[in-house]
Amino acid sequence: MRLHLCEGCLAVAPKRSPSFKTRRRTFKSRHCLNEKRYSAMDGSSYSTRTSKSGRQSSSESLNSNDTNCQPAMPWFGMDIGGTLTKLVYFEPKDSSKRELAREAEALRNIRRYLTKNSAYGKTGHRDSHLQIENVMIRGRRGTLHFIRFPTSEMGAFLCLARSRGMGALLTSVCATGGGAFKFEIDFKREVNLRLTKLDELDALIAGILYIDTLSNTECYYYAPSRNGDAETLQNESSPVSEEGPSSYTRHPFNFSDPYPFIIVNIGSGVSVLAVRGPKDYRRISGTSLGGGTFLGLCCLLTGCRTFEEATSLAAAGDNTKVDKLVRDIYGGDYARFGLPGDLVASSFGQMNSSDRRSRVSKEDLARATLVTITNNIGSIARLCALNEKIERVVFCGNFLRVNPIAMKLLAFAMDYWSKGTLKALFLEHEGYFGAVGCLLKFDDQESLNHTNDSDESNASAAEPTPESSGSR
Ligand code: ADP
Repeated sequence: MRLHLCEGCLAVAPKRSPSFKTRRRTFKSRHCLNEKRYSAMDGSSYSTRTSKSGRQSSSESLNSNDTNCQPAMPWFGMDIGGTLTKLVYFEPKDSSKRELAREAEALRNIRRYLTKNSAYGKTGHRDSHLQIENVMIRGRRGTLHFIRFPTSEMGAFLCLARSRGMGALLTSVCATGGGAFKFEIDFKREVNLRLTKLDELDALIAGILYIDTLSNTECYYYAPSRNGDAETLQNESSPVSEEGPSSYTRHPFNFSDPYPFIIVNIGSGVSVLAVRGPKDYRRISGTSLGGGTFLGLCCLLTGCRTFEEATSLAAAGDNTKVDKLVRDIYGGDYARFGLPGDLVASSFGQMNSSDRRSRVSKEDLARATLVTITNNIGSIARLCALNEKIERVVFCGNFLRVNPIAMKLLAFAMDYWSKGTLKALFLEHEGYFGAVGCLLKFDDQESLNHTNDSDESNASAAEPTPESSGSR
């Protein structure tokens, strides 16, 4: 693979605009209880910031201030996906003065660089609205930061990591996703970092279970805002009519007793898993028609260049000008089988007519693409849930980023077609769970044996702070 060796693609860039800041929402916690929740991955457990369920487990814990068990800072988890690379960074907030004084220059610089900026060059972003404060991991208290950049910019990322002296601080990073295999040699060559590879589905489940323990608002669902239930809406509207999905509003869902559940991870492609326990899951289905398909087709059909552009075009479009509906074929409902007239019978089914083609806009095409991909995923998810006899379906992955239309469509379609028996659930940290799973598992054993400044700074952290000792 050829690396794009230009310094600075991910270099310091101005902070985000004030309008972004107004959207900023950080999760804060006043308490740090000693709840532990066993991870889906062997041998790793963690303590959480807050206790939602009040349950305790006695699993083996990495949450100890015994720094002999702690890897060297900085602590990262990476998910190198087909489209986006997700990086989760743990910023310690409990460092003693002695620790700070002895901290390696490179470590300090990396922390400042990552936490003081919310954009890195043209393509790297920190999702500051997702950051989680007051988290306990391995006996350290700190903040979780969520950063993403296009995987196509991996060369620039490696340049940056090298220029910031990452290789001197760490010997390995825990990574998942196909890119952990694809870029393994590049990490070694460019930054002298070994990638400790974790299976992406193990990491995904571990990340979901962990992040959900941190906030009561992580998991949510959409439901009709007016006195309607699914049945009322069923009588009044169909999955494509305006009254349906658009009337849905968001509500928190208590996911503290999660099993069993289906996960539908909508990234570039789609994976469907049935999860019955922390270490009991199966990949039951998938489809290649995922977020990558939506973006690729939108770029082809509309000339747009970014995901954000594609979703905002879709928001302004009308898919019924592109799709062939039941009423276009029947002149109304197909009543015998309960198929309403405004149901899509054939996605893009009108586009064989040159007259119709001449009348559709970019927006209509983007909307039809979004509806096609989303409905297909919704159908697969519903059949999987029925087959597995599982009622809760958790949708995640970055296809759902800034994409309320897709979420509402999924929620409505699951409700409508299951007559209210299936529940579509969504997660605030949409695409970051694999990277979180890696952060939890990160255990840079070789770094523990290094005698550099950062090791010394970790050694000083062995002195428990009143706060952290109180939380154990
Ligand atoms: P992967 O691990 O396969 O990269 P993700 O969960 O990161 O999967 O999701 C990738 C999908 O998210 C893309 O195919 C696209 O539909 C959507 N997406 C959301 N934000 C962006 C973005 N800024 N750039 C590209 N795709 C994005």
